[in-house]
Amino acid sequence: MNPKSTPQFHPDQFMLADYAAGTLPGAVALPLVVHLEHCGQCRSETQQLEEVGARLFEGLDPVPVNEDALEQLILRLEDDSVQPALGAIPVRSGLPRVLQGLVPDGLDALAWKRIGSLRSSRLHFGDPRREVALQHISAGGKVPQHGHRGTEITVVIHGSFSDQDGCYRPGDFLMRGPDDAHRPVAAQDGDCLCLAVLDAPLRFQGLLGRIVNPFLKIRPR
Ligand SMILES: [Zn+2]
Repeated sequence: MNPKSTPQFHPDQFMLADYAAGTLPGAVALPLVVHLEHCGQCRSETQQLEEVGARLFEGLDPVPVNEDALEQLILRLEDDSVQPALGAIPVRSGLPRVLQGLVPDGLDALAWKRIGSLRSSRLHFGDPRREVALQHISAGGKVPQHGHRGTEITVVIHGSFSDQDGCYRPGDFLMRGPDDAHRPVAAQDGDCLCLAVLDAPLRFQGLLGRIVNPFLKIRPR
């Protein structure tokens, strides 16, 4: 499998437009930027949207802004994680460049929590409403059938997994909502590492769900 194959699953236009305008929450922009590192098509669409935005902005009359708007802007500019920049596919650490600052000591130094063949490690990102986590499924591992109480955004970093709707490879970008249930299975030939951003806990189905769902919470860091 070619890890640099073109992604088949893309963020929608509205999300690209929000990213280009700088209005997408940073935690949501994170998986988007991982996708953009793989996807020339979305990268050029984003650049076009940014140019359109810049031209619109030039045509606007200046409006008075309140004092803390400037402070907020400076905070955003100082915090790389708020609006991650585009970049090429990294090879050095095996992690997309935009994630390297969040995993400074490598994957092995993270604290991993295990549910069956799924391991999950929450990253410190600072969005109080969203959990940002790396998820690792061992080769051939199955994640229990689950739905979503909110939105789950997933981007594949390496390896691949599949569910009833398709097979997802590096750079593929998926957004699951409350009506979507699936049972991800990692490919037999290698582990799968994904970045996931959740704004509400998963909802496992069947007996497992009845036992664990009441205890599941998102825990932003
Ligand atoms: Zn794309």
